[in-house]
Amino acid sequence: MTPPQVTQTVDAVAAAPPSGYDDAMSDDYRQLLDATIQHLEGLKSRGARHVAVAPETLRALALAPKFPISNFQSPITRTPASPAIKTEPTISMPPKKTIAPAPKPQTPNASLQAPITSASPAKAAAFTALRERALACVKCPHLAASRTTVVFGVGNIDAQLMFVGEAPGADEDEQGEPFVGRAGQLLTKIILATGLSRADVYIANILKCRPDTPGQSAGNRPPTPEERATCIPYLQEQIDLIKPKAIVALGATAVDGLLGKTLGITKLRGNWQTYRGIPLMPTYHPAYLLRNQAMSEKRKVWEDILKVMEKLEMPISAKQQNFFLAA
Ligand code: URA
Repeated sequence: MTPPQVTQTVDAVAAAPPSGYDDAMSDDYRQLLDATIQHLEGLKSRGARHVAVAPETLRALALAPKFPISNFQSPITRTPASPAIKTEPTISMPPKKTIAPAPKPQTPNASLQAPITSASPAKAAAFTALRERALACVKCPHLAASRTTVVFGVGNIDAQLMFVGEAPGADEDEQGEPFVGRAGQLLTKIILATGLSRADVYIANILKCRPDTPGQSAGNRPPTPEERATCIPYLQEQIDLIKPKAIVALGATAVDGLLGKTLGITKLRGNWQTYRGIPLMPTYHPAYLLRNQAMSEKRKVWEDILKVMEKLEMPISAKQQNFFLAA
């Protein structure tokens, strides 16, 4: 009798860590693995989005590899966006007024899938596991109760450049992706002006949930120190896995959240700092540039970005050098 099968996205199967193999993985196995990945990519390019997988295969795929395979390079690795694991929150104290409901399961959104990377299967698996933990997080019960989505982060998990902002706003909470509102659109323009795209970099926030504003139907507030301290380990793990060559901290909350209390964004911006051994460039938040449209402020941010491009040894054209300079 044919065992019952479930459908999985093509990407999820292609990115699943192969189980039960180790450093001594045979050439035959390697070839089989490569052929399987190529077959799945072929199906995908012809429009297939799901494949039938037997439950035991799924269980085997879900097991992390015993050892990282340093010399194994999957031709294409994707990190699947996983739905949040539905868990009941554990509340050890007697409930106050608000009790966080079980987190709403987050629907996988195609745009949230990490783009094609050459990340190792072990790295992709570690990132997926981290994402799943974050999506199920209820450490701030008030935020778990008010959020629509956990805004984990988006982009290339092998990125050389990472942008860190403050916290999701209403648009980000709605869509589950950082920097998609007005400030996000400006950030996207800044990224494009460097010659990169959003898919080349990684974008995340200090806080993964939208700060609640009880009693208000609109508006934002900065994260509290407690919320920041609770959430920062997720970002630290993201940074440790991605290992970018440079981080751009957008605005005071991102700078303080990463570096602790500092001189303030006005003094720090444009001056290289270090975070977990990684060069960090503080600059103004794009929301500030939306409030203050002066060319001089745009130029300041652009000069900070030029320093980042230099650090990453990116080509810089004369036109790029001169953006936002008065004619
Ligand atoms: N502002 C931020 O700091 N982060 C977002 O994701 C959106 C706006």
